[in-house]
Amino acid sequence: MIQCKNYINGQFIGSRGGTLERRNPANTQEVVGVINQSGEDEINNAVSVAHNAFPAWRAISRVRRGEYLDRLVQVLKRETESFSRLVAREMGKNINEATAEVTEGIHMVQYVVGTARTPFGDVVSSEIAEKDSFMRRKPKGVVAAITPWNFPFAIPFWLIAPSVAEGNTVVFKPSKETSCTAQKLAECVHEVGFPPGVINFIYGSGEKCGMPLVRHPDIPVVLFTGSAEIGQQIRKVCAEFPDKMCACEMGGKNAIIVLDDADMNLAVNASVISAYKTSGQRCTAASRIIVHKNRLKEFEKKFVEMSKRIRIGDPLDQNMFTGPLINETQMNKVLNYNQLAKDEGARVLLDGARLTQGKLANGYFLSPFVYRMTHNTKSRVLREEVFGPHVAIIPVKDLEQAIEIHNDTDYGLVCSVITEDFRKAREVRERCDYGLGYWNLPTIGAEVHLPFGGVKKSGTGMPSASTLIDVVTHRTAWTVNYSKEIKMAQGMRVDIK
Ligand code: NAD
Repeated sequence: MIQCKNYINGQFIGSRGGTLERRNPANTQEVVGVINQSGEDEINNAVSVAHNAFPAWRAISRVRRGEYLDRLVQVLKRETESFSRLVAREMGKNINEATAEVTEGIHMVQYVVGTARTPFGDVVSSEIAEKDSFMRRKPKGVVAAITPWNFPFAIPFWLIAPSVAEGNTVVFKPSKETSCTAQKLAECVHEVGFPPGVINFIYGSGEKCGMPLVRHPDIPVVLFTGSAEIGQQIRKVCAEFPDKMCACEMGGKNAIIVLDDADMNLAVNASVISAYKTSGQRCTAASRIIVHKNRLKEFEKKFVEMSKRIRIGDPLDQNMFTGPLINETQMNKVLNYNQLAKDEGARVLLDGARLTQGKLANGYFLSPFVYRMTHNTKSRVLREEVFGPHVAIIPVKDLEQAIEIHNDTDYGLVCSVITEDFRKAREVRERCDYGLGYWNLPTIGAEVHLPFGGVKKSGTGMPSASTLIDVVTHRTAWTVNYSKEIKMAQGMRVDIK
């Protein structure tokens, strides 16, 4: 059993906020770990040590900072299997997906290590021949990183690795559902031997631990990944400060558009992967499949058949396609949305329910819920994020209507189109609202060297993954005069008469 203790100033220390148990969502009889809950005192302590560590850390060369991260890559690689098993036990992700997530997190750190030896600014010419100008990136200070439970390994590294590589220090607060994975991350950070205070971990709830961290006056940057509701609260709090910015990556109501010329096997396969991987609990999951009316019957038949075939069970079993929901609250939320779909007039094609056969009764397992529904702009199920195995099939008459319906949600994270026609694919690329677009692919499967961030309610326009470097650095201008005289741009006169 894992004991989660705050990691502050290079030491694992307890807290006075009491403890919380984390149980395996596939088998609630198993306690995965016990988490020390932090409050105001621990947060103040963590921010203070990160603040004190900042001047020395930023003064080290970027290349040296990259070398610390390179050592971290070696430690994480060695621990890949044990991290994958822990993610499966704590979060409920199937072991194959969990291993892919750990690989993705390591890719992020590797990417950042590579950037340590690349330019961190530009040399630009001036209007005046004797002047050179530079754009140089500078770190911003102590970064607060707050993350959700659905990617407990990868998302922390998306945020922490670019922040520290660029010379910032970090206070990281994971979700209380996945603090055990964070504890193991802290142990790896400790093994590498980062200078004390550069990366700190604190555990606890959003209200008692997350919000005081956001409000702390010595935090200039908040990196948040989670729900749109909490992201919006964080944005409001940051706006009260003159010098606090936040980059929020939030939910989605993603769709796959299946056009009349689609390769049907590819369309069905992409839809099943997008709908059910991680039991639909990915921000990139597709819960809407917009299908051309000419292919509707064929799509529905194949999709429902395949939805019935997916194997749901023990996350540690490689043969399973997917595992449980994260907790009872999330499971009940999905069941309530299933009922709401019926109330809103859905034609149910596959009724989803809690699975209780044998050992499944000890976990939060749900079978897929699939329905057909005509688009209605007032429908809650067609507009709100469900985060579970809940899929609407929405018939459309043509591409024009598909694009219109695609954009008729407050979210804009991922879009996929299945078509053999490059002109139609281009229309979708240009006119749909999204941050991540795919052609003939599922909505899931992002790679770290691309930007990751949505529009509308899904993001604040400062994408994560590789492009987070822009968020955690300030671009400064530095202009040098090589002449003995002062010559001004824009024709400004300098002679004093
Ligand atoms: P959540 O918003 O409930 O919590 C996210 C984090 O915020 C947690 O660490 C939580 O403790 C903290 N938090 C909660 N209340 C807070 C408050 N008042 N102040 C400060 N921090 C607070 O989200 P979740 O349930 O953990 O994760 C699921 C959500 O995350 C979904 O909406 C999903 O779409 C989204 N998500 C988005 C992305 C993306 O990159 N766009 C990736 C993964 C998950």
